[in-house]
Amino acid sequence: MPLHHLKTLRDRLKKTQTGTAETPVTFADSHPVFEIVALGVRSGVADGNLSSYLVRPLGTRESVICDAGTLGHGLKKAEARGVLDDIPIMPDSSLSRAGHVLKQSVRAYLISHAHLDHVAGLVLSSPEDTPKPIHALPQTNAILSENLFNGRVWGVMGDKGPEPRISKYSYRDMEPGQSQTIENSKLDVTAWPLSHASTTSTAFLIQHHGQAILYLGDTQADQPDGPQNLLDLWKAVSPLVQKDKLRTIIMGVTYPDGQPDDALCGQLRPKDLLKSLRDLGHVCGGRHHIRGLRVLISHVKETFHDNGNPVQQIYRELQDGNDIGIHFMMAEQSARYLV
Ligand SMILES: [Zn+2]
Repeated sequence: MPLHHLKTLRDRLKKTQTGTAETPVTFADSHPVFEIVALGVRSGVADGNLSSYLVRPLGTRESVICDAGTLGHGLKKAEARGVLDDIPIMPDSSLSRAGHVLKQSVRAYLISHAHLDHVAGLVLSSPEDTPKPIHALPQTNAILSENLFNGRVWGVMGDKGPEPRISKYSYRDMEPGQSQTIENSKLDVTAWPLSHASTTSTAFLIQHHGQAILYLGDTQADQPDGPQNLLDLWKAVSPLVQKDKLRTIIMGVTYPDGQPDDALCGQLRPKDLLKSLRDLGHVCGGRHHIRGLRVLISHVKETFHDNGNPVQQIYRELQDGNDIGIHFMMAEQSARYLV
């Protein structure tokens, strides 16, 4: 093997905890059911690394994309690192593997809310995309059709909005708590509203043969005098947690604990997440139900400040307060998680 190949191999192995050099895996359960590919994981000024996760039941080619802050760039980076290699594709053109995955494997977009750091990649990749449904709460789909794919900011890519319509995307309005089957797949998805500053965000439960992944878009902590959206969500998913069917939760922790209460912009700090997860343990009937539960942390704010490493700081703060045995993982762009 040439030396530069050996070096690449060594670098790849160094970067991963498990897995082979060909398809690096950042985390692998001994009996994984789902694959999660992190296409983008941050919030803030780095426009090439914003919230987007591909979720696929292993053994299938049916995937969904949860939010699409960074889509095309995230797929290309994932391809370069080899983490798309296990997704079955049928090569039928000169398309890259990233292009094949987008066109052949992705069955739908689940969009939590229309903030640009969750939809910018969807907009930019849309001219190259194949027709797909967008599953979202009605208020999110309305914002996408009226304020984004409206013929002024971008073409009318959806099946609502002013003529002429390109109608590549079909808006599928979701009713909170009611599951929908994603077309051309055996995946079911259920949505619940989340409170997020002045807008409504969404949690999506993705289910396949009774096993589940829960993805949360941006959310703030429940306030004593406001809606109890997180608590209601925990109540809805608690039977899955009790039966050990919730494989992983993906959710955001945007700021370290030092961020003041009045500067959270509808986001969570480590202490807010830990408090909410203790509520989950409570509604499940005891903390033993959430011991070992995997929570993949997304959406850490990136700024132009050069003051330490917020990802490490948030991880440390989560671990320091982790008296409930949660298995926290900090999402890394182009990482692959088998859960
Ligand atoms: Zn947001």
